[in-house]
Amino acid sequence: KADVTYLRSLLGEYPDFPQPGIVFLDIFPIFRSPFALETLFTHLVHHITTVTLPRNRLSSIDVVVGLDARGFLLGPPLALRLHAAFVPVRKKGKLPGECVKVEYEKEYGTDMFEMQAHSIAPGQSVIVIDDLIATGGSAKAAGELVGLQGSKVLEYLFVVGLPFLKGHEKLDAPAYWMVEGD
Ligand code: 5GP
Repeated sequence: KADVTYLRSLLGEYPDFPQPGIVFLDIFPIFRSPFALETLFTHLVHHITTVTLPRNRLSSIDVVVGLDARGFLLGPPLALRLHAAFVPVRKKGKLPGECVKVEYEKEYGTDMFEMQAHSIAPGQSVIVIDDLIATGGSAKAAGELVGLQGSKVLEYLFVVGLPFLKGHEKLDAPAYWMVEGD
């Protein structure tokens, strides 16, 4: 599709960042173009309204969960368009008050993710968004945090997927990525 081809063409590629052997895909060129950013959110909302909601026999999404840090840039505009709440998942020690916590493995090292307790009500319809899925470790941890709040993720959304790493196979719900990296 033309919108996907267009957004793919904007991605930056940085070999050996942040570590040797990793090709870092940079989504910020999309943010530097108002037209591209509009295209990105229109595509995501179209996917959610035509695939995610009908698949789950729902009329609305209650909560968009965004992952530290680029998921914080994607989540709130998406939540606004969906008339949903936004809830951040942060790296450890950043959120005040009582938190639920999960340890996870990433493409380069391990870390702890936290979410403020009671920020999602049991049974609310939840989607998770991040810029990219690699090993799926971060998204899986986010799903576990949603589970600790008594809810379940309907779908995991990404701008970029690296399906050859099979990260989506770790997840407890379908994953959708706009653009495929290789
Ligand atoms: P995973 O947990 O799936 O292995 O790694 C995904 C997480 O690492 C995401 O939060 C993502 O932002 C970050 N990440 C890993 N590799 C890349 C990359 O090449 N480009 C970008 N933009 N983020 C990456």
